[in-house]
Amino acid sequence: MRILSAKARVAGIAGWPVAHSRSPLIHGFWLDRHGIDGAYVPLPIAPDSFVIAMHGLRAAGFAGANVTVPHKRAAFALCDRVDESARRAGAVNTLVFSQEQIEGSNTDGFGFLAGLRDEHVDPTAGPALILGAGGAARAVAAALLDLGVPVSVANRTEARATALAQDLPGLRVVRWEDRSAALGAHALLVNATTLGLDGSGDPGLALDRAQPGLVVTDLVYVPLQTPLLAAARRHGLRTVDGLGMLLHQARPGFNAWFGVDPTVDAALRAAVLADLPPA
Ligand code: NAP
Repeated sequence: MRILSAKARVAGIAGWPVAHSRSPLIHGFWLDRHGIDGAYVPLPIAPDSFVIAMHGLRAAGFAGANVTVPHKRAAFALCDRVDESARRAGAVNTLVFSQEQIEGSNTDGFGFLAGLRDEHVDPTAGPALILGAGGAARAVAAALLDLGVPVSVANRTEARATALAQDLPGLRVVRWEDRSAALGAHALLVNATTLGLDGSGDPGLALDRAQPGLVVTDLVYVPLQTPLLAAARRHGLRTVDGLGMLLHQARPGFNAWFGVDPTVDAALRAAVLADLPPA
């Protein structure tokens, strides 16, 4: 049993609900590995308590917090300072508390790119097509655009894709009905919709229209093997699941709170995989 000292660093994840989050497992794994005098706890916080809870955690000496659904935009509004990643994404998933201020960043784009790198996929190999226009799509689109990748987005509700394109200059909008026709012009496909989550369908793509080199990625990680990834493999396409992004997006927060840039490796993957439901 690990006993915390009075100097222990403490962080957590604020969500509503938060029980599904794997962040306590990931950070707990790293805390154990590095023998750090610290803790990372789930923080179930209802939307109307979010702001007061964050100020309370800071006053109580927390080092910071991750923020998940539905608080990412409220977290953005709460910060005294946000970095470029948060500004581009319009949302914050990582808060760092100090005596003077609350700083926010968004590590989803970083996590996405690092997850691709682990799989030796070059995100700059060609144009990317993102399905979805929610928070995750926005962060991934910004990260790819920042690398100079031409990015298109297709969303069921086109107005949301158009709004995203207004916020992220250079982003192209593809009509949802045209998503299959657009496949042939892209080297990377990103499913950033919730389709496939808990086995809830797939984006309905005609994958035979893809170029053979298309890399198909899915941000959904419950289950890890989504119907889209299974279909892509049947078509002989390369796939990358959402686990790498999940693990890597946690690194900057851990580093800021506990002072170690942790490693994403096979042991961590195995620990998280054991906690995910089978496909
Ligand atoms: P979000 O903001 O709620 O956006 C959901 C998106 O899914 C919207 O674009 C929505 O389209 C689309 N959608 C929902 N139901 C649909 C349907 N039946 N048909 C077509 N489109 C549909 O969610 P988010 O935070 O961006 O997250 C998106 C996914 O990424 C989630 O599954 C989440 O778990 C995953 N994610 C993974 C990681 C990771 O580390 N791997 C990190 C962040 C998020 P409309 O605009 O038309 O409603």
